[in-house]
Amino acid sequence: MNDNPHQPDPSDQTERPVLVLNAGSSSLKYQLLVPESGEVSASGVIERIGESGSDVADHAAALEAMRARLADDGVDLDAVSLRAVGHRVVHGGPDFSEPVVIDDDVVARIQALSPLAPLHNPAAVTGIEAARSHFDVPHVAVFDTAFFSTLPPEASTYAVPRDLAQKHAIRRYGFHGTSHQFVSRASAELLGRPVEELNQVVLHLGNGCSASAIRGGVAIETSMGLTPLQGLVMGTRSGDVDPGLHAFLSRQVGLSIDEIDEMLNKRSGLLGLTGVNDFRELSKRLDAGDEAARLALDVFVHRLKHYVGAYLAHLGRIDVLVFTAGVGQNSPRVRAGLANGLDGLGIAVDPARNEADGGRVTEPTVISPDGSRVVVAVVPTNEELAIARQTADLVH
Ligand code: ADP
Repeated sequence: MNDNPHQPDPSDQTERPVLVLNAGSSSLKYQLLVPESGEVSASGVIERIGESGSDVADHAAALEAMRARLADDGVDLDAVSLRAVGHRVVHGGPDFSEPVVIDDDVVARIQALSPLAPLHNPAAVTGIEAARSHFDVPHVAVFDTAFFSTLPPEASTYAVPRDLAQKHAIRRYGFHGTSHQFVSRASAELLGRPVEELNQVVLHLGNGCSASAIRGGVAIETSMGLTPLQGLVMGTRSGDVDPGLHAFLSRQVGLSIDEIDEMLNKRSGLLGLTGVNDFRELSKRLDAGDEAARLALDVFVHRLKHYVGAYLAHLGRIDVLVFTAGVGQNSPRVRAGLANGLDGLGIAVDPARNEADGGRVTEPTVISPDGSRVVVAVVPTNEELAIARQTADLVH
């Protein structure tokens, strides 16, 4: 009990931070934050885990390195009274449609989903196991696919032989779900309207890019599929190609399946079209009149329009169209490019609003003209905060 009402109660959960971890095969991103206020006390990334010449041998060593870095920043992990650890997990497969408190069974199930995400899930399991040994607090897994578990069967089903699809859990899952969900809630708040009333299209444009159609807060379509390769043009990923391209490259060019997979994931998209995947560099080249950069931007925007048009057809009406992530928050060119020619659909961008502060948006902002049929907004995403909040909700 706290006798003095003016003193914060040390047992008050809302003061205690959550540690959010995102474990990759050779990196560990971390952020320590209080979910209610969003106050971040530390964040960073430990890289080159397990690589030759690195002094970080494995994920357990990475946690030690993180602890030391936090101490350098004046944060003593033993003193902060950690509430829980929230883990970002890429693939929840058909099993996980919501965040879960982690136990041995959950770890085994995430591991068992590895065929669906061979690069990501084993790394997540390694990170979770190391963190469970290191921190004796509840651990929660938050899945990148979970928000899209609501896709109706006609949206999630590929037209391939049914028994094969069932046997191997082949379907559209979608990714970036934590961001799409966070941004859809935040944009409803920006409008001061309940999310249940809104038809939303969210465009998450970062290094990876994805679009979603959300009706009343429930996702009904998204552009990524079985893997994050499907859909929009991305920094290094092709997005949609003719599925026949694989057979063509195999037969005509003699590439192996692994080579094709690597090419479409790592050497395509903006990088494949221009030699650079960073939008800042692309912008400089556009300013200089570079032809390849022009075509890359046109292809990028063309594909975006394709999805927005499709989502209008699926939703019947769009109330809010939201841009988020690195490119969405910082490229007025992409936002204006999408809106160009869409006034007939009620989609327009006000140039002054779109280009204010060099087009860099740090707070939820409306960029459509007053009275537009569709509100076009830019809403910064915050996946760590979303993971911390979902974690706190499960362990309070
Ligand atoms: P990730 O998918 O890695 O989380 P981000 O959401 O951080 O990616 O977005 C990265 C992308 O955002 C990069 O292509 C980067 O060039 C772009 N970006 C970041 N800042 C700017 C900026 N000021 N202008 C244009 N693009 C930007």
